[in-house]
Amino acid sequence: MSAKAILPPAMLGILGGGQLGRMFAAAAKTMGYRVTVLDPDPLAPAADFADVHLAAPFNDAQALETLAKTCAAVTTEFENVNADAMRELARRGVRVSPSGDCVAVAQDRIVEKGWVKKAGLATVPYLAIETVDDLHTELEPYLPGILKTARLGYDGKGQVRVDTPEAARAAYANLGGQACVLEKRVELKTEVSVVVTRVTHAQMSTFPVAENRHENGILDVSIVPAGIPAALAEQAQQMARQLADALDYVGVLAVEFFVLEDDTLLVNEIAPRPHNSGHYTLDACVTSQFQQQVRAMCGLLPGSTTLLKPAVMVNLLGDVWPEGGGEPNWAVLMEAPNVELHLYGKKEARPGRKMGHFTVLADSAEAALTQAEALKDTL
Ligand code: ADP
Ligand code: MG
Repeated sequence: MSAKAILPPAMLGILGGGQLGRMFAAAAKTMGYRVTVLDPDPLAPAADFADVHLAAPFNDAQALETLAKTCAAVTTEFENVNADAMRELARRGVRVSPSGDCVAVAQDRIVEKGWVKKAGLATVPYLAIETVDDLHTELEPYLPGILKTARLGYDGKGQVRVDTPEAARAAYANLGGQACVLEKRVELKTEVSVVVTRVTHAQMSTFPVAENRHENGILDVSIVPAGIPAALAEQAQQMARQLADALDYVGVLAVEFFVLEDDTLLVNEIAPRPHNSGHYTLDACVTSQFQQQVRAMCGLLPGSTTLLKPAVMVNLLGDVWPEGGGEPNWAVLMEAPNVELHLYGKKEARPGRKMGHFTVLADSAEAALTQAEALKDTL
């Protein structure tokens, strides 16, 4: 082990108190650690599981001072805005993972794609648009395409489909003239993702590959094992490891891939944290992605990623809540013996908002998917 391992009941800190912070806190608490959450929202979902909730902005000097003084290690649950806070904590001598530099890479699609290429991996054909001048070049190779803001996009936000150079220029102006990437729209056979845990090069571990289906740019369902050839799944895991190595990454890293018709794997994007498509690990693997996050930040070896059962995870967005108020019909999920319901404790259900998920465990991914779809229809 490189640095001295941090053991319970040490205090662990996390920037962000959404559902990922909540599941991190639950995992850490179960293992006997104490948890401090920094999140300005007084109703942050992670607060339910935290010993200490600092309800302050992420750049609040006093809150960062408290984290630095009281936490043995700090991690993050999201990439937007947190790189500087992570760097500041590292300057104050706290063990921080992933590093602020790695978080910064994932914050910016242009920088991110640069690193993917540096790691020797392929992306979709894209054009980096730093200024309007970059749009006055040959755009045809990237059309029909998707214009995406370089920063602050998630769940399909900050993205516009464009078919002509004129449409691309108009969309760029509509997005406020900020830095963007123009990506060629590729025909997808499917999409998969890999969650990799890296402590050092020698201490690295990947979870089974998840196959992901999106609805309106938001993850809808993850299927494990993915319905792709075993060799391709191994290749995706190898690529995720390669990227983690290139970044000298410490922590949990999620890598999203496009699978083309000819089984080419392209890296779509990365997330410097556990990922929605890895939620199945909570119920279907020996170690969950949140336990891995705890282990990595504490300098402990990654746990076993063995899949115990084929699994299908279904996201529960605010859309499934009844319009006039009340709750979906949870009884159908609670009464199924092979289904695990996870709700994030969010007070207000809005369309597109991630409120929870459920995971179906079955003897095959096909059986789990059939049951999952039937259950979703009865909510
Ligand atoms: P987000 O940060 O919102 O997750 P992504 O870049 O992952 O943004 O895009 C969301 C989804 O949109 C992808 O998972 C994929 O289904 C679709 N998509 C994005 N870019 C492309 C592309 N270049 N070609 C085809 N589909 C795409
Ligand atoms: Mg994505």
